[in-house]
Amino acid sequence: MMSYDSDNVFAMILRGEIPCVKIYEDNHALAFNDINPQAPVHTLVIPKGKYINMIDFSKNAPEELIAGFFRAIGNTAKQLGLEEDGYRLISNAGESANQEVPHLHFHILSGKKLGPMLS
Ligand code: AMP
Repeated sequence: MMSYDSDNVFAMILRGEIPCVKIYEDNHALAFNDINPQAPVHTLVIPKGKYINMIDFSKNAPEELIAGFFRAIGNTAKQLGLEEDGYRLISNAGESANQEVPHLHFHILSGKKLGPMLS
């Protein structure tokens, strides 16, 4: 597997080197709005650690971080007020999925009818 690139844009956001519109933060994760929203609600949740994708994360992250990260995704969706209307979670990995930023992230999408899973 490729090695983690510490200069990726989400690593820079985690280090506070570039700004973000923060939605939620705890010891394990940071959630912020996507800069190029694909829906009225488009928030990204990233773990605080150097993981490229889910395979890397599930293999190498400590249990506490794995649990904390998934709790943070739920907490973020709740904080966004999506409990009733619903939302979609997407995590792109690698070339086939068009992953642009090589730091594990989940997209939370909502705010309109999102249609079929894949266009
Ligand atoms: P992915 O294609 O799953 O890797 O998604 C990467 C996402 O990161 C895209 O939706 C981009 O719009 C978003 N993105 C890139 N740079 C930034 C940034 N500086 N702040 C917030 N979102 C960003």
